[in-house]
Amino acid sequence: MPGFELFGNEERKEVQDVLDNGVLMRYGFDPMRNGHHKALELEQDLAAKMKVKHAQVVSSGTAALTVALASAGIGYGDEVIMPTFTFVASFEAILATGAIPVLCDIDDTLTLNPAAVEAAITSKTKAVMPVHMCGSMADLASLKHICDKHQLLLLEDACQAIGGSYAGKPLGSYGDLGCFSFDFVKTITCGEGGAVITNNDTYADHAHKYHDHGHDHIGNDRGAESHPFLGYNYRISELNAAVGIAQLRKLDHTISLQQKNYSILRSALATIPEVSFRSVPDTGVESYAFLSFFLPDENIARKAHKTLGEHGVDACFYWYDNNWHYYKKWEHLLTPSSLIKYADDIVSGLQRNNKAFPASDAWMGRTISCLIKVGWSENEVKERASKMVEALASIL
Ligand SMILES: *Cc1c(COP(=O)(O)O)cnc(C)c1O
Repeated sequence: MPGFELFGNEERKEVQDVLDNGVLMRYGFDPMRNGHHKALELEQDLAAKMKVKHAQVVSSGTAALTVALASAGIGYGDEVIMPTFTFVASFEAILATGAIPVLCDIDDTLTLNPAAVEAAITSKTKAVMPVHMCGSMADLASLKHICDKHQLLLLEDACQAIGGSYAGKPLGSYGDLGCFSFDFVKTITCGEGGAVITNNDTYADHAHKYHDHGHDHIGNDRGAESHPFLGYNYRISELNAAVGIAQLRKLDHTISLQQKNYSILRSALATIPEVSFRSVPDTGVESYAFLSFFLPDENIARKAHKTLGEHGVDACFYWYDNNWHYYKKWEHLLTPSSLIKYADDIVSGLQRNNKAFPASDAWMGRTISCLIKVGWSENEVKERASKMVEALASIL
């Protein structure tokens, strides 16, 4: 999903605009700006692209998740259900608001299993956070049904899936709120950046204020603005936003290149009877950022991952062993340290996660995900496809 492969004069021009007027801050300094409001422009473009009323651009995907949760009133002692397979940021963002992340099993979509979500709901549950890992999505219709029934917020972590869709809607726009990351390895990048999208006017208004110290952004004098509630600094800089504007314009092109390369690799792997693919919910369209597939068991998957590397097939991930993406390596998040202290009831809330997730382990133990690059020539992809088939055939 590397948007960083496609830098060009478009990004240069946008960044140059900012350097020319010298205003790196998104608010204020109107007389110097020469009409350039890059963060605002990125918000307008993103809202239009995602077909939502509001987009709030922030400094990272982690910031986006934190701002989204806080803006919807999630806070101290509330429980938020999230999957065992994600990036640690989903967990960190929930904790940052004072809420308790409650881990929940995934299924063959590699995202939240709706039945497991329903079983994890308690009187403290306030939100469900599906994470659309590796370019594909959760069964959002089932999750929405559960959320409606229990009056829970549905918040999509779409950081890895911008450009995909579900039921005809862009991923991130189906739930009450959706979040994107524009970090240096995501499908489109600002260097560092992120966004919250929503159709809810109140959440959007809260996000606007909360991400900038609680500023109400009324009038032209920042020093004189009032502050209805606490906030922090999750602002994006104009330089980063400028890159995002150019990147967002390329999104459809990037996705079409990913789809083309993904399809070639997938057709090749589909000829191997022992390989099956991650399931994509009905009406879902992937962003094709990764090709994820299952081997018959953990042992074979480990061997397959090793042999792919030995055959020169780079950028294939065995997430089951990964420090950052799977709950098994997250002891540091579950237990307070001398530096990071949690309140006693947060500690006891977190203890709920200290259990085995055999259903998740069974899927992740068999999964390999290969990054799809956009810069490959057709020959390179075809060569890669034959190498993959050859590598897998050697151990199956
Ligand atoms: C990258 C990512 C984030 C965090 O985004 P940053 O911009 O790096 O803070 C959150 N969730 C998922 C699933 C991600 O992949």
